[in-house]
Amino acid sequence: MSVLIFAELDEGKIKKSSQEAIYYGAKVAEMTGTSATVISIGQTTDDELSSAGRFGAAKVLHASDSRLNEPNGMAYATVVAGIAQQEGSKIIVLAKSSLADAMTARLAGKLKAGLAANVIELPDLSNGFRVKSSIYTGKAFAYNDLKADVKILAIKKNTVTPEEKDVTAPVETVTPTLSDSDFVISVKNTEKSSGDILLPEADLVVSAGRGLKGPENWGIVEDLAKALHAATACSKPVSDLDWRPHSEHVGQTGLKISPNLYIACGISGAIQHLAGVNSSKVIVVINKDPEAPFFKSADYGIVGDVFDVLPRLTKAVKAL
Ligand SMILES: Cc1cc2nc3c(=O)[nH]c(=O)nc-3n(C[C@H](O)[C@H](O)[C@H](O)COP(=O)(O)OP(=O)(O)OC[C@H]3O[C@@H](n4cnc5c(N)ncnc54)[C@H](O)[C@@H]3O)c2cc1C
Repeated sequence: MSVLIFAELDEGKIKKSSQEAIYYGAKVAEMTGTSATVISIGQTTDDELSSAGRFGAAKVLHASDSRLNEPNGMAYATVVAGIAQQEGSKIIVLAKSSLADAMTARLAGKLKAGLAANVIELPDLSNGFRVKSSIYTGKAFAYNDLKADVKILAIKKNTVTPEEKDVTAPVETVTPTLSDSDFVISVKNTEKSSGDILLPEADLVVSAGRGLKGPENWGIVEDLAKALHAATACSKPVSDLDWRPHSEHVGQTGLKISPNLYIACGISGAIQHLAGVNSSKVIVVINKDPEAPFFKSADYGIVGDVFDVLPRLTKAVKAL
């Protein structure tokens, strides 16, 4: 019996959010007196997989099958359910993502499991199995008592800060049992919408709104993002106006992100925008209007013109 953690890959590398899930799963294993087993699916190297040991994995299983090279929620759920049954795992942990969203309900159905999504703390085992999750786009919390024998926890980004150890984990290859019905949807290929840093995964985000006046001015936003190794994001009107791609739109109707640092440039701070970014650890607001509502949610605020402040900030970051 072990805690089973699904580690999602991005171009053969374990995603940062999955490293957090491994660390979280290893902590739950410690709390429940078991060990942490990682299952990863798709093309990667043994070196990459064994690095899961740094986050607390005792062993790593690798399901490799050419039909699984592109992420497919249906087939991946079958693989993870099969491994969970084989390993006798009663707790399954994975990092919330688009792929995880496509897997979790299917997994719960296959394993007749209790499912908690957007989990933000380690479970409370003092009276059963209770997990805290974030709901209503971060404005409220739910406390979920999971009573089913098998429990699935989809954890939110930044729920834990992994402490790495200088340990590697042994890797075993497993051959999954799959049928044609697992491939009624087939993913032909996937491609990133823009940039090197995936916005949902990014630790640092520089975001801009209508205060930038037009797409021709985005150079100053990109310069700061590049200097910080940050992803770029934008408000909804900016993507509606086609100044930026829709994949960068954050908010109630866009992506919900929780980076360590969110820098909002020329964004007013409407509630619909905040709904997507208010679980960021630190929020910095740059706006020329001292009455802009975003300042109420900011940890740090700069009252100033973005066309003046951003180049100076970029210069200062580069100097550091
Ligand atoms: C159902 C619904 C869903 C929505 N979903 C979303 C969503 O998901 N995401 C989202 O972002 N919005 C969403 N909206 C829209 C939202 O209500 C706001 O209209 C939008 O967020 C405003 O975008 P903005 O801050 O870029 O623009 P504005 O409101 O126009 O604000 C621009 C800001 O830039 C500042 N500024 C101007 N010039 C400068 C300068 N030179 N230097 C510094 N600051 C400057 C201004 O003071 C102002 O505060 C939604 C609305 C509805 C009704």
